[in-house]
Amino acid sequence: MTENQSDENKKQYDYSFDYIQGKLEGKKDSFGMLMKEIVRAGICTECGTCAAVCPVLEWDHLIGQPKLIGKCTGCGICYNQCPRTITDPIQLMGEFKTGYVGNTNIPEVIGGQDGGSITSLLCYLFDEHLIDAAVVTMKDPKNPWHPVAQIITNKEDGIKASGSIYCHSQTVEALMDAIRQDYRSIAFIGTPCNIDAVDKMMSSPAGMLKYFMRAHVLKIGLFCMDSFAPEAIYSFFKKEGIDLSKVEKMDINKGKFHVYYSNKDEPVKSYTIKQLDKFKSSSCNFCTDLTAENADISVGSVGSGPNKNTVFARTGIGTEIIEDAAKKGYLTIEPFNSINLNAVLFLAKLKKVSQYNIQKRKVFIVKDTEDEPRIKTKPELDQTPVSPTLGTRKVLSVSKAINEEEKIVKISLTNSLGQVLENIKIRIVSVEELFEKRPWITSIKELFPYETIEIGYPLEVQEGEIKYENVLVEASTDEYGKIYSKTFKLEPPEKK
Ligand code: SF4
Ligand code: SF4
Ligand code: SF4
Repeated sequence: MTENQSDENKKQYDYSFDYIQGKLEGKKDSFGMLMKEIVRAGICTECGTCAAVCPVLEWDHLIGQPKLIGKCTGCGICYNQCPRTITDPIQLMGEFKTGYVGNTNIPEVIGGQDGGSITSLLCYLFDEHLIDAAVVTMKDPKNPWHPVAQIITNKEDGIKASGSIYCHSQTVEALMDAIRQDYRSIAFIGTPCNIDAVDKMMSSPAGMLKYFMRAHVLKIGLFCMDSFAPEAIYSFFKKEGIDLSKVEKMDINKGKFHVYYSNKDEPVKSYTIKQLDKFKSSSCNFCTDLTAENADISVGSVGSGPNKNTVFARTGIGTEIIEDAAKKGYLTIEPFNSINLNAVLFLAKLKKVSQYNIQKRKVFIVKDTEDEPRIKTKPELDQTPVSPTLGTRKVLSVSKAINEEEKIVKISLTNSLGQVLENIKIRIVSVEELFEKRPWITSIKELFPYETIEIGYPLEVQEGEIKYENVLVEASTDEYGKIYSKTFKLEPPEKK
């Protein structure tokens, strides 16, 4: 390539990492962001670098954090020096060879979900006999909008599979089935977490696919910000009056989740992502990959404008496929520019730092709301009635630990349901013979999936000695009724 050609390329595909690095050191990454993302999130290591590099910052030894002592110009230097911020574009969205804005030319898909680039690529791959199967996620015909992973072997099914379902799907099982069925060249379409699974199976020393590598797998990753627990979000939609069997499309656009009864019309309902946050799969809280960094080709809707896709070719084969598919008319590609890229970087950064903000509640204060003990028949030990709507599913897992020093029993309650539990009423009482005493009642507004809270219930002390009695723990919610009841036998901790 001549120098001129290379300059031309650089102009045309104005996405170079140097350029973005320059942008990141610009005005946006201010001291305010450092405080919000790092200091207030509790992940500051107190290294003092920020204060050391800026004349208007000093280290506040009293509170152990940087303090402004003059006017901040918003130069972003403190943010960019901090060891805890993520500012490198490669760290934010992985390496890629070329970026494009793509949109489909397949008539059945034009105007449908986003840009339809993945459908275009599938049609090209089948027509050119470059793949003999693809693993995709489709809607379960028996269960509206529940995902089901499928092996498809022709482009007609590829067209039917277009559209997004924002729930986890077990795609790798379908991939293994495809390999067992002797398909040799397979396109695997999946979310970044599923792409990671396949990538690990292909490349890690103990990777299963590495040793059973009879097939070539092309990894096509979908950008992904969140997915939702179907039981939780669909029962919410039902309460909102949405008929799932009529829904034709769901999409996430500009921070809003839209539900459509028709591809052509306005959404029937729209929600901010924050409103739906409580229905999010708990694993997504810990996910840092927006753009499917380990794929051959990554496709998403952010950064490309309406009805178009952002498409990254990350490997040589990925680049060849996109360019040849475009040459043969399956999709139209345009150069990806720095404005497009900044939108992706912004969202990628939000995702990388979002896990810093996960709050774990360790101690919850209980209130004694009943002065006089109420007399009740003692419940049976180990009795765990469950709500009729939840069947035998375990909703809470509860454990206890005596703290002799504080003279309390710590009751830990973990949400094991996998979806947010709202307005949980918890009642703890001591049980002596047939009677209950010292009832304590508290309520928790929201308990997130797999979140644990600890409640300290005071033990009875007589003449300086702790009295070890049985303790009954009961929990109920407005939605499900009683979800937990068990009597714990308390015993003095064994002395070492
Ligand atoms: S002026 Fe100082 S505090 Fe403000 S952004 Fe720049 S380095 Fe940070
Ligand atoms: S540079 Fe970052 S980690 Fe170090 S003290 Fe400042 S905010 Fe904390
Ligand atoms: S947010 Fe992450 S974990 Fe959740 S579905 Fe997307 S890629 Fe998977």
